[in-house]
Amino acid sequence: MQAVLTIAGSDSCGGAGIQADLKTFEAHGLYGASVVTVLTAQNTTGVKDIYEVDPRFIQSQIESLLQDLDIKAIKIGMLFNKEIIQVVKNSIRNLDIPIVLDPVFVSKAGSALLETEAVNELKELCKYAKLITPNMYEARQLFNYEEDKKHDLNKIRELKTNVLIKNHIKEINNIIYSIDYLYTKNDIKSFHTPYIRTKNLHGTGCTLSSAIASNLALGKSLEESIKKAKEYVYEAILSAPNIGKGTGVINHKV
Ligand code: PLP
Repeated sequence: MQAVLTIAGSDSCGGAGIQADLKTFEAHGLYGASVVTVLTAQNTTGVKDIYEVDPRFIQSQIESLLQDLDIKAIKIGMLFNKEIIQVVKNSIRNLDIPIVLDPVFVSKAGSALLETEAVNELKELCKYAKLITPNMYEARQLFNYEEDKKHDLNKIRELKTNVLIKNHIKEINNIIYSIDYLYTKNDIKSFHTPYIRTKNLHGTGCTLSSAIASNLALGKSLEESIKKAKEYVYEAILSAPNIGKGTGVINHKV
């Protein structure tokens, strides 16, 4: 059976991180494997604690899976520090498997999920990905992105990967949309879904990147994978259950 691998953090709340990724792979009919980089103690109101997995153990998890499973795509999420980024980079750099990197900096509830001194290391990792999926805050940290400003395309191209910048909220003909822009080498494309006003958005970033990885694993093109993944996330937000007191989780079983 075709497998997809997530290399990411565990969210004890079950809405983001590896838990969201595995649910997403399953919903796409794929076998999901996971390499845990950090454990977070968190609920819908925020991250209370972070426990880093020893980088040698992260390497050992990745190696044991690569020796065995037929992995068709990899999603990379929360990496937290330089040492973890380095070990992941060394483990994946020679693979011929499409990689989707979600450059996780902060959680929706505002907790830091990447140490500030690890940003350059994360930029280095980008070139091994087929696609990176920053939100606007992450895009600002990575290449000084500013919404609606003429920005330096060379700064994006320096990362040597395709870049999907998420969640621009815009009104077009009286309908509010959530728009993601895909920057490829020679082109910019946009992907729209209607904007949903809700507080239950925990795990949307993780789910989008793992849904893109799933579609790539199924042999879809990059653009088709993004289009389908954005629709998947839209449906998952629409049917989000109300759990917890804070930023509730989306519904992966759609
Ligand atoms: N990865 C982990 C382990 C997390 O706990 C979180 C958020 O709390 C994220 C990633 C980012 O989540 P989101 O998809 O809401 O941006």
